[in-house]
Amino acid sequence: MDKQRDFVLRTIEERGVKFVRLWFTDVIGTLKSVAIAPAEVEGAFAEGIGFDGSAIEGLTRSYESDLLAQPDPTTFQILPWRGEIDPTARMFCDITTPDGRPAVSDPRHVLKRTLAKAADAGFTFYTHPEIEFYLLKSSSFGPEGPVPVDSAGYFDNVPGGTAHDFRRRSVRMLEDLGISVEFSHHEGGPGQNEIDLRYADALTMADNVMTFRTVIKEVAIEQGVYATFMPKPLSGHPGSGMHTHMSLFEGERNAFYEEGAKYQLSKTGRHFIAGLLRHANEIAAVTNQFVNSYKRLWGGDEAPSFVTWGHNNRSALVRVPMYKPNKGGSTRVEYRALDSAVNPYLAYALMLAAGLKGIEEGYELPPESEDNVWQMTDAERRALGYSALPASLDHALEYMETSELVAETLGESVFNYVLRNKRMEWEAYRGQVTPLELKNNLELL
Ligand code: GLN
Ligand code: MG
Ligand code: MG
Ligand code: MG
Repeated sequence: MDKQRDFVLRTIEERGVKFVRLWFTDVIGTLKSVAIAPAEVEGAFAEGIGFDGSAIEGLTRSYESDLLAQPDPTTFQILPWRGEIDPTARMFCDITTPDGRPAVSDPRHVLKRTLAKAADAGFTFYTHPEIEFYLLKSSSFGPEGPVPVDSAGYFDNVPGGTAHDFRRRSVRMLEDLGISVEFSHHEGGPGQNEIDLRYADALTMADNVMTFRTVIKEVAIEQGVYATFMPKPLSGHPGSGMHTHMSLFEGERNAFYEEGAKYQLSKTGRHFIAGLLRHANEIAAVTNQFVNSYKRLWGGDEAPSFVTWGHNNRSALVRVPMYKPNKGGSTRVEYRALDSAVNPYLAYALMLAAGLKGIEEGYELPPESEDNVWQMTDAERRALGYSALPASLDHALEYMETSELVAETLGESVFNYVLRNKRMEWEAYRGQVTPLELKNNLELL
């Protein structure tokens, strides 16, 4: 630890860093940042930097509003944008109370606590997200909705288009920040792109997702376009998912791998999937936290709507991808509900908790679904026992409210905050009379 702190202090000096940004995340998943002078960094390592937690979404109850941001030296990176004149660096922070205890409502702590539980059972948790987002001409929009930068589709090569340069620049910046990219391509919607990050342990990856969104927004500003991670910005076009591949390792060994088993998927892997399926509806208000998230889930275009699993089945909620026979390292489970507007710390904590529960309790994995579940009738789906994901945020909240797993994993304070905050969002939505209603009803009724 001290070595890492020394490294940070030395690098600041050598590289002439002028500002150090301390980053942390609120409960909704918004990145927060406070810049400190290089001379303050040593003190920040020793004592943290104080701030008013009650001003940050979900972070405290107001009677215990003094909090400290404690920079994590292992996350130190020089930021690759606008730094030619005044080099700027950043570190992610853990949030503590003034007496040094982890702040119960710090999302990073919620994930760390869950990872520690996995570690007690002998597991390290790795994730790898496929992050989709839209590039729009601007954030303003008229009655037709936002305007995307192009009209291309899946894997399209668009010579001279914005998307190419945009992806190249973003990938370069991510690599400069120590984030490895596996794939990038144009996605199905006009102006929609996807960038897939190389797997990392879940804490690093949750930090990486926060960095990723910032990088994408910065590159968009640079290129005069607007990037959005909104789950469903355009009606009639695909939403932006953040399919997440997961694996558990026991030391060097992938615990999901078993040679000769179907899909090379071990018992542990099967129980993990069973856990995800059993608790999918309870965790939905976090994996899909906005009113708008449910327009993606129920809008078709390869977003999952039913609680099923499969191998090569893109209508399934959970998929066991097997692109090529592997030697055991890469067996993994893909969870397809998450959208790109998720708080990655809380979602990873809940997905892990659900999977671990499946392992602990030895949940039985239901038969896989080979069919396209969207094309079946309700009766057919019922007969096969395929249940639906919540159709709207208020349904998801109803599931969450009674979930012991979610309450235990998030802790009382985050649990209550999410319920309260999301109920408010739902009430505000329900209170609206929409243009569609006016169009359909006003002249008729
Ligand atoms: N956009 C789809 C979703 O929302 C996924 C499309 C794909 O990557 N196959 O989940
Ligand atoms: Mg993909
Ligand atoms: Mg995709
Ligand atoms: Mg996928």
